[in-house]
Amino acid sequence: MIKSSEEKWVKTTCAYCGVGCGIEARPNANGTLDIRGDVEHPANRGKLCSKGMALGETVGYQGRLLEPVVNGKTCDWPSA
Ligand code: SF4
Repeated sequence: MIKSSEEKWVKTTCAYCGVGCGIEARPNANGTLDIRGDVEHPANRGKLCSKGMALGETVGYQGRLLEPVVNGKTCDWPSA
């Protein structure tokens, strides 16, 4: 059964700071996440700060250093 886009929202918690705002995340086919505040969460009642709103931009691998690089060339960890 194919879920509607509204059913794909998953409740979780923002990991950026100690407030612990409730968020809802929805995965997209391209590997990104849509993020919105959880209106039922007592810490934030659906509101998110700028860091929480940008949470979906942090889940991709684009632009991350995934292997050791020395002088612009990839190498193994012991060499690095
Ligand atoms: S949304 Fe902002 S205030 Fe809420 S937990 Fe995340 S960083 Fe903290």
